[in-house]
Amino acid sequence: MSPKKFSPHIIIAIDGHSSCGKSTLARQLARKLNFTYIDSGAMYRAVTLAAIRENIVDGIEIDELRLNILLQGLTIKFAYNSSKLRQEIYINNENVEEEIRDIEVSDSVSIISKSKMVRENLVSLQRKMSKNKRIVMDGRDIGTVVFPEAELKIFMTANEEVRAQRRFMEMKEKGSDIKLESVQKNIHYRDFIDQTRDESPLRQAPDAIVLDNSELTIEESLNWVMNLLLERFPVE
Ligand code: C5P
Repeated sequence: MSPKKFSPHIIIAIDGHSSCGKSTLARQLARKLNFTYIDSGAMYRAVTLAAIRENIVDGIEIDELRLNILLQGLTIKFAYNSSKLRQEIYINNENVEEEIRDIEVSDSVSIISKSKMVRENLVSLQRKMSKNKRIVMDGRDIGTVVFPEAELKIFMTANEEVRAQRRFMEMKEKGSDIKLESVQKNIHYRDFIDQTRDESPLRQAPDAIVLDNSELTIEESLNWVMNLLLERFPVE
């Protein structure tokens, strides 16, 4: 499918539960369509990493005053790594793409993401980064809050055990000695907080199309979205 078939500013929003393969699908879709991919979760993770380093988050407690000061001095950007063929995230010019995936960050990110101040800051940055571009963005509030006018909204989910197993295997392959139980707990905990928070809770947008990929391979999920795109934007 040629990107020329799309309007210059089309947005594809992919929201859904934790660890169901949103980022993998979004990244591959963007590559196939020649769109820009933005991993909004990486942005929340980057703020969380910076907050952990400054001892601003302690369990479920956040020091909002210091978090505000931290945010004001924090520069978040993505840069393309041509050897790894992916966008990587930087805070104040430091590449933190690997570090933000650590379990310490995963355990605190949903607490930091509840903050109205953090959300306003990152939503504004996400809109700025997307200006005049064709975008695939994944997260929790992309189709509901960041881009309610997105041309295509997908709500992704998968069975919780399948998600934990997939994430566990992925972390093992990277050399982590984490236990499956810890991965399972983290996924369950994040989904709970993401769905019950006051600010921009994870919700399926009324016009989103559900993709349950419990029994699909990555390639099958990608084909499913490509077919959906062809239906929505038929090639003449
Ligand atoms: O997408 P990922 O699992 O890396 O996101 C990490 C966390 O960041 C989520 O569990 C959620 O708490 C938060 N998040 C969010 N809104 C987004 C993206 C991520 O609240 N748009």
